[in-house]
Amino acid sequence: MAEIERHSYDVVVVGAGGAGLRAAIEAREQGMRVAVVCKSLFGKAHTVMAEGGIAAAMANVNSNDTWQVHFRDTMRGGKFLNNWRMAELHAKEAPDRVWELETWGALFDRTKDGRISQRNFGGHQYPRLAHVGDRTGLELIRTLQQKVVSLQQEDRRRSGDFEDGLKIFQECTVTRVLTARTTEGPADGRCTAGVFGYDRESGRFFVIQAPAVVLATGGIGKSFKVTSNSWEYTGDGHALALLAGASLQDMEFVQFHPTGMVWPPSVKGILVTESVRGDGGVLRNSDGRRFMFDYIPEVFKGQYAETEEEGDRWYTDPEENRRPPELLPRDEVARAINAEVKAGRGTPHGGVYLDVSTRLSAEEIVRRLPSMYHQFKELADVDITREAMEVGPTCHYVMGGVRVDPDTSAAPGVPGLFAAGEVAGGMHGSNRLGGNSLSDLLVFGCHAGRHAARYAAESSGDRPVDEAELELALREAVAPFDDTRVRGGPAENPYTLHQELQQTMNDLVGIIRRQAEMREALERLQELKERAGRLVVEGHRQFNPGWHLALDLRNMLLVSECVARAALLRQESRGGHTREDYPVMDREWRRVNLVCTATGDGIEVVRQQNGTMRAELLALFTREELAKYLTPEELNGVQQ
Ligand code: FAD
Repeated sequence: MAEIERHSYDVVVVGAGGAGLRAAIEAREQGMRVAVVCKSLFGKAHTVMAEGGIAAAMANVNSNDTWQVHFRDTMRGGKFLNNWRMAELHAKEAPDRVWELETWGALFDRTKDGRISQRNFGGHQYPRLAHVGDRTGLELIRTLQQKVVSLQQEDRRRSGDFEDGLKIFQECTVTRVLTARTTEGPADGRCTAGVFGYDRESGRFFVIQAPAVVLATGGIGKSFKVTSNSWEYTGDGHALALLAGASLQDMEFVQFHPTGMVWPPSVKGILVTESVRGDGGVLRNSDGRRFMFDYIPEVFKGQYAETEEEGDRWYTDPEENRRPPELLPRDEVARAINAEVKAGRGTPHGGVYLDVSTRLSAEEIVRRLPSMYHQFKELADVDITREAMEVGPTCHYVMGGVRVDPDTSAAPGVPGLFAAGEVAGGMHGSNRLGGNSLSDLLVFGCHAGRHAARYAAESSGDRPVDEAELELALREAVAPFDDTRVRGGPAENPYTLHQELQQTMNDLVGIIRRQAEMREALERLQELKERAGRLVVEGHRQFNPGWHLALDLRNMLLVSECVARAALLRQESRGGHTREDYPVMDREWRRVNLVCTATGDGIEVVRQQNGTMRAELLALFTREELAKYLTPEELNGVQQ
């Protein structure tokens, strides 16, 4: 067996984005020894790319905002498929998490009277996003990192060792959650015992033994060709959970952000923040028409301005006017742009126009949207203070993820496993509202850290890893170097396979889905899986990107199969899942979560009942609105 470095902690957190760091801080503050593992350099997680802001009902800009309004907006955005308890906890706790960030040193933009400024975003009734220009994620991560360092300094004072209580293993990839026998829980007698992985630079293998494992690995966008996501989003945590015996839910719901760059080709997919629309940007087709007024769906009728004049007045008088439909939830705007381009009213490069220059002064644009200004100037030679941007949908976020208990973030069936952030499912239902991810990371990162710490503290005795399982993890990791695997077919290259996977998901399981195409996608995924068994890479384990990708492909293939299978089963259109053959939202399907588990040679999807909201939460909606989402039978049970 190759040499394996061994470490032992109470809690191991996989991921150092917002969710991972918040979980690690919480677990360490509960007195646990914590290890954090991340694929890239510490401070370079995906969260850094977040632009627009953190949604929290602090009522700084509009005093009518409350957690109840935030809860209602989140449920509407998710088309009532959300785990309502998660949405409730999120709306209630988000303000505290933002204020806490400020006490840890975050420097938010301010209102004129000195409070944390909040901006408008799609689907949020009031200005709600606390922000730092359009670089909010950077400030969030900087602050959490600073908090980690201050805890490490405390540890140094106490024990003489900075890394005694909280250690970061950077540029390390986890490939397996390890398990051990247990008498707890209903699973096949197994609980978590730690993680196995490799150091990306040296290629050395490691085991971090710990009774509690928190997955905070982010999303899956790199399975799609056009995406705003970075190289790290290969669905690792989703796959790690499946392989450890946990299940994923709602994987058919993938968010295509309406505004990604469409030109030049080398930057296609890079995000154009929703703040551009929040700060007044309007969408027009090639005929110059503000087409979003033609796309207000039935469920949102009455809530949005119906004329350009009213939409324009809303910016200065939000009390007396309704917001413009450019600020509908993302799924609606993405579908509308897709339809305009398909109808031949797109821009020369296959997008639509987004223009903020007619509403804000050049100075204001550079001040409020500095990253966007530089992004377009440097990458596309477009001056957004004078010209419109060309934009189109890009794969951005996955609503589906690890099925967790809403109060503890624990994955049912696998004692010791927790998940938070984008890798966890439930919170956003069928469609996430902008800004609700950063708040989700902080709220549920904190929950996951606290409950993982509690679990670790209550775990009795040493929990040795299963050596046979470890041997298997090791064999799997070195398999791509073994060219004797290539029997009965040519050796396969990871880059070719990745490209084919991305093209398949983009073309056949993308923004608009059809039954025949998804069946074809599943056949292609099966072929790709077989070919992945013949992947061979050259060289050795020291920094070898081909090898890294070969290992990531296992995860992307597993997760893509979950997306395609669940999408084929769900015969309706809702949020981030649009079926051309079932274009209408169906109330019966609201009661269903599709849940994926790994069966050994594939993915099984079963239906599970989505719970009914508590009476006082239902009372936040009118009966008329509830009737749009609930079945007549459910509605009969509602007391109002
Ligand atoms: P991440 O921040 O992605 O962190 C994942 C961590 O897991 C990383 O450290 C990674 O290295 C590690 N990791 C992954 N796999 C492994 C493995 N196998 N082994 C070890 N480590 C691993 N949301 C908002 O609410 N507001 C916004 O304004 C906003 N803007 C956005 C702008 C862009 C361009 C993008 C792409 C997203 C934006 N989002 C926004 C969404 C939001 O940024 C993400 O959903 C969120 O940051 C995810 O955080 P996370 O902690 O779950 O994961």
